[in-house]
Formats: sequence, structure tokens, C-alpha cells
Amino acid sequence: MAEEKQSVEQLQREKLVLEMELVKEQLEQLRAKREARKRAHGEQEKTLEEGRRLERIVQRNCSHRKGGKGDDLKNNRGSDPNGSFADQQMPNSQVWRMCTRCFALWKPGDKSKTHPSGIGYEQIMQWPTDNSPAGSVQFRLAESEKREGQRELATVSEE
Ligand SMILES: [Zn+2]
Repeated sequence: MAEEKQSVEQLQREKLVLEMELVKEQLEQLRAKREARKRAHGEQEKTLEEGRRLERIVQRNCSHRKGGKGDDLKNNRGSDPNGSFADQQMPNSQVWRMCTRCFALWKPGDKSKTHPSGIGYEQIMQWPTDNSPAGSVQFRLAESEKREGQRELATVSEE
């Protein structure tokens, strides 16, 4: 009887040791997963940062002007007096300006110190451009001609 009791205790002890090993293993796996996730996140951050760095270089070196041939065209070094801009009037009547060469985007309040191009909004809006701004596009419900009160969605582009 005593021998049997001892072996039950021993079995319970062994079971406990095995359970603890299992828990340890699971913890190690969790830790490894967490580390891998951290590393992947770090790599992603690095890639994003590198993308932002390259974007800054491209936008710094762009002349934001139309024209140019060959290498000048390839390197965004247009020399036309007119800027290569697409202006967009937003629904709140703000005008955003985008360079169609380097895709730099200027919004009201952008400062030269912080804008990737090194040019602020107020400054870039002084540049001449022969492009006409695009108005904001609005959707409006229009009553169709007495067709049993049906309505159709009409897209209206406002200047
Ligand atoms: Zn540009």
C-alpha cells in the first residue's frame, strides 16, 4: 500500500514536471514569435523610412516645371517657366497643388522646412502654371422628369 502510494506521488510529480516543461516550451515559442514579429516590424519601418528618404531626394531634385528633353525629362529637370502642376479645389474650397513629375503634394500650411521638396505651400502657389484647376466633384440627387417619383443619381462637376 505504501509502495503504491509512493508511486502515485511519483507519477504526479513526473506529471507536474512534464507539464512545467510543456509550459516552458510554450513560453519559449511565444517569446520567439514575439521577437520575430518585432524584427519584421523593424524591417517594415526601415523599408518605409527608406521609401520616405528616396521620396525626399526625388522631390528635392525635381524642378516641378514642364518641359525638358532626354535626361532632363528623365530627371524631372523641366525648364519651362510653367510649373507642372495639377491643382485640385477641395470641397472646403482649399486648393491643393501636386507636381505631376515627382508627385509632391502641397496643402495649405505646408512649410518649406518640413515639406519634402523644401518649398512651402505659400511659395509654390506663387509659381506660374498654365494648367486649369480641377473643381471638386459633387454628387447630387436630381429629380427625373415625373417618372413616378423616381430619382436618379446625377454626377455634376462644378467649376
Ligand atoms: Zn516635382
